[in-house]
Amino acid sequence: MATKQAKKQTKKKRSDTKGAKPARKKASARSGWPAEVFAELQRLYPDAHCELDYRNAYELLVATILSAQCTDVRVNMVTPALFRRYPDPAAMAAARQEDVEELIRSTGFFRNKARALIAACNDIEKLHGGEVPASMEALVKLHGVARKTANVVLGNAFGRNEGVVVDTHVIRLANRMGLTKESNAIKIERDLMRAFSPESWTLLSHLLIWHGRRVCRARKPDCAACVLRDDCPKVGVLSD
Ligand code: SF4
Repeated sequence: MATKQAKKQTKKKRSDTKGAKPARKKASARSGWPAEVFAELQRLYPDAHCELDYRNAYELLVATILSAQCTDVRVNMVTPALFRRYPDPAAMAAARQEDVEELIRSTGFFRNKARALIAACNDIEKLHGGEVPASMEALVKLHGVARKTANVVLGNAFGRNEGVVVDTHVIRLANRMGLTKESNAIKIERDLMRAFSPESWTLLSHLLIWHGRRVCRARKPDCAACVLRDDCPKVGVLSD
């Protein structure tokens, strides 16, 4: 608490001191901004983690494919029955599409998702001996698996920081916070990978997603209550 208080006072002093080399101060504040974002959000969400329920890489891969255009809460409601019926890639690869569709219907886009799950598991069976591969190169070659899904699986099931998960929350927050000017997920990920050290990438995406769900929401970001309000450039955020 004392540290936070001291930090706030320092920030206040900094903004109160006018006229002293503004260009330099801006440059130095900018270089420390990613570190500040990470530290403040880590303090705020010490338990930030992937909110999908899973017990292994297969279950996380399935849950992540289901999470497209759907909430984690909804996915967590359907996966227990799905995993009971299809406990591994071999079982999913042999599934009838209609049966999978019925179990995942409420997650939306259920026909495409059922097709992707069965096809990805067929790839896992044929190309990887029934084990979810632990590399970016192999994961993105599976049917229905793009870089975002691969990053979720690598970072959370295998503990490998190969990239940053860029979902709708991360796209929004990274732009508002001035961490990127891009709208393309691949380019945003590239900017975040440059700004943050590799060991922080998996946690960074959890922190941004947690903050995006709780404070920096799409429609009404609560800037007044945000721990980053003093330094955040709030790009594109309309003030009341
Ligand atoms: S200050 Fe506002 S725009 Fe910036 S991170 Fe916080 S809620 Fe989002």
